[in-house]
Amino acid sequence: MMLADEKLAAIRSGDACDLSRRDLTDILGAGPSVDEPLFHAASAVLERTVGPAVYLRGIVEISNACQKNCFYCGLRRDNPGVARYRMSSEEVLEALQEGFRAGLRSFLLQSGEMLGDEHIETVAQVLSECGRLWGDSVRMVLSLGELPRAVLDRLWAAGGRRFLLRIETSDRELYGRLHPRDGIHRWSERDACLGYLSSSGWQTGSGVLVGLPWQTVGHLAGDLEYLRGIDIDMCGMGPWIEHSGTPLFEARDSAPPVRERVSLTLRMIALLRIMMPEINISATTALQTLDPEGLEKGLQAGANVFMPNLTPARFRENYNLYEGKVLVRDDLETIIRSGKARCGSVRRLLVPDDPGDPLHYTRRLAAPGRGAEASGKADGGVL
Ligand code: SAM
Ligand code: SF4
Repeated sequence: MMLADEKLAAIRSGDACDLSRRDLTDILGAGPSVDEPLFHAASAVLERTVGPAVYLRGIVEISNACQKNCFYCGLRRDNPGVARYRMSSEEVLEALQEGFRAGLRSFLLQSGEMLGDEHIETVAQVLSECGRLWGDSVRMVLSLGELPRAVLDRLWAAGGRRFLLRIETSDRELYGRLHPRDGIHRWSERDACLGYLSSSGWQTGSGVLVGLPWQTVGHLAGDLEYLRGIDIDMCGMGPWIEHSGTPLFEARDSAPPVRERVSLTLRMIALLRIMMPEINISATTALQTLDPEGLEKGLQAGANVFMPNLTPARFRENYNLYEGKVLVRDDLETIIRSGKARCGSVRRLLVPDDPGDPLHYTRRLAAPGRGAEASGKADGGVL
């Protein structure tokens, strides 16, 4: 039987090779010598499939209000130290227009989880207005937490087509240790929401937190298999970062040291690129927070999306999921210019004005019996 490092060498040279659960845990738990063969294999897969392009997705953090109480997140409902805000649709559109003028064609709207009509109507208005202004030239991704089917259908009707919902961990028991057991934090509900998104035509993203207290390489291997199993189109995976105003802070000694969280995140990106060559994978802000070269390292591991923050400064400082979040104060033109140089330094090409649809989604929808057509939804939307 082939060993994991022999499989990596074979993958690098172009052979089709499946990584078993055992290979995944061996690689994730190996010493630093595995990184070079692993990242080379992931880069070779990337070059053969999606190529060197890096896409930009401007993120707007539209509200930090949240009904949930996740033990790891600074925005949790019971954190009294947060000045809560909600951007109006005009404020969101202004931030998007600034991004559009700088050349961006893909945006992510993110918020805490709120089910109120006002919040959902704000998002629906923004989607409709973006469709009116920019038609098919712009892509909008929503990351608003778990939403009921009727609400997702409302957002679809407004033109929404892309949704990101991290499962956080595929392990139900670990999920239970990271969330209150109060009936609104259920792993099975989150999983069902992802199932609905994917089967009803949404371009679906997910991801996990890496380097959590009590998390093992076995859990992380399970996460990779879960993400492949639900057939995601895009992925955002980042290291867990402590926040002193959250219950998980007390368990920080049960988490790996910061350097290891970075290293595990990079290995997760590389393995997922090998397992799912045609999806979009972002180099997350959390990765860049823990490592100043997180962008370059993430790209070298196989990421192909970079997400500059477009949230107006007066709101941004109150969107603190964790402490020490990088606050880039440069204007967008400077960020794009330096992004091009940083991508170039690792032989990748930043293409700011390409919305960057993942090849995986195009193929998934084209497969007979899949996607919007199968769900009975006509794909009249543009976003
Ligand atoms: N509320 C929505 C949700 O939970 O899906 C979307 C916004 S939430 C702030 C986006 C992501 O932030 C979560 O999926 C979680 O993985 C990440 N996050 C929260 N707290 C974090 C922490 N302390 N360190 C790193 N990432 C964190
Ligand atoms: Fe709310 Fe999302 Fe933070 Fe959980 S991770 S507390 S749902 S903002």
